[in-house]
Amino acid sequence: MRFRHPSMAKLQAWLDTGPGEGDGRLDAHIESCAHCTERLESRPQETAGDVRSALIATLASPDGLEARLSESIHDRMAARGDLRLITELFGVPLRTAKIMANPRGEKS
Ligand SMILES: [Zn+2]
Repeated sequence: MRFRHPSMAKLQAWLDTGPGEGDGRLDAHIESCAHCTERLESRPQETAGDVRSALIATLASPDGLEARLSESIHDRMAARGDLRLITELFGVPLRTAKIMANPRGEKS
């Protein structure tokens, strides 16, 4: 591959434009280049969050997806456990338990 490591300025520009909007070769390079990923990650702290979200959006790695899925499944199981606990403690119907567990009606 003739495409070399982009300059820090190019990496910055890539962050600013966002994944998929800039040079596709840059997307492909960063996706496959641990060195450039490291350079992005080691940028100043205040931008680390942007770097991370940009990387996550671009890489969309199966590992990350799996982590997000298992996290939400865990949350759902925990919420379900709470509901069952409420129904057992208070002897109330599940519908009432849901209201008790989530008084403001937020979707969980
Ligand atoms: Zn590189």
